[in-house]
Amino acid sequence: MTKLLFAFSGLPTRVIFGAGKLAEVSAESEKLGMKRPLIITGQQQSKLGRDIAAKLVATAFDGAAMHTPVNITETAMAIVGDQKIDGTIAIGGGSAIGLGKAIAWRTGLPQIAVPTTYAGSEMTNILGETEAGAKITRRDTKIQPETVIYDPDLTMSLPRALAATSAMNAIAHAVEALYAKDGNPVISLMAEEGIRALAMVGADREEALYGAWLCGSVLGAVSMALHHKLCHVLGGSFNLPHSETHAVVLPHATAYNAAAAPDAMARVVRALNARSAPQGLYDLAKSLNAPTSLKALGLKETDLARAAEIAAANPYWNPQVITLEGLRKLLDDAFHGHRPHA
Ligand code: NAD
Repeated sequence: MTKLLFAFSGLPTRVIFGAGKLAEVSAESEKLGMKRPLIITGQQQSKLGRDIAAKLVATAFDGAAMHTPVNITETAMAIVGDQKIDGTIAIGGGSAIGLGKAIAWRTGLPQIAVPTTYAGSEMTNILGETEAGAKITRRDTKIQPETVIYDPDLTMSLPRALAATSAMNAIAHAVEALYAKDGNPVISLMAEEGIRALAMVGADREEALYGAWLCGSVLGAVSMALHHKLCHVLGGSFNLPHSETHAVVLPHATAYNAAAAPDAMARVVRALNARSAPQGLYDLAKSLNAPTSLKALGLKETDLARAAEIAAANPYWNPQVITLEGLRKLLDDAFHGHRPHA
């Protein structure tokens, strides 16, 4: 029997969950002492941001963009200074929440995050910013939002295709949390429950958002491994889309690690009610009509060898030993969209 040896830090963010809970944003901002908040959205959710800003007599900024470009943060920082902003309320996916975090890291201002996708950034103290094509990632307690409001009503407008890949992206956090080198029993409970709930995304958006909270929490609490490394390589060096890449790679990264992480696999099997973890994840992606091949995302077959080399050169800790040959096979399977054998 394996010994129980672990460290667990309590999760610091206040979480409010429920349909209609966006209505509490004013009371929550007052609790944090905000008198002049900045409402942050991307352009698609501009109207929602302006409506909330009107209710709170606040300023709206709708320039948030994917991967938190520093030049956009600087534009927002100028507004923060001019308007004497004393807190941020980010409404949207990882892009809007990333901008709130970037401002908090620079100023220490309190943040409320209102996520409308399942990406999970709201529950972490991680900020990834891009400048001149390079991504800089940092962790800091200032980056972690003080309050998160999960309102399932806001996710009803997510197109089915985006809901599917966003759910697979979140499930990937939980799968890797189950075999993380710094995992613990509480995080494993949350991860398994998060996978179960998010797998219901096709039928129940409320369950899915509950799953997103759990999967975001485990992402914030423990270290990620091979799957996240591969997705960073494919996104960063080959410009593949974020959540779609997670959806394609996850069954194959899971297959790669299956023999080295049997307890994690047993939990995924239970959460998905499947016969095998890699096949269960593949079948889930297919049933949601998520993409299942890197080819469909526009990667060229001639790029596979270079992707494997980049991922093998500077790997994250992983339960299975990383070999160049193993990565090439994994990426080849992901490129063609093969169903994992076991
Ligand atoms: P996103 O925020 O760019 O949203 C994707 C698209 O969905 C956008 O066009 C957005 O306008 C639209 N959208 C969002 N919610 C919607 C809704 N309810 N209805 C209709 N459309 C909606 O992308 P994302 O996938 O949420 O997040 C990805 C970003 O977050 C990446 O930059 C990633 O690096 C970052 N991220 C960071 C962390 C972290 O811990 N730092 C964790 C996860 C993701």
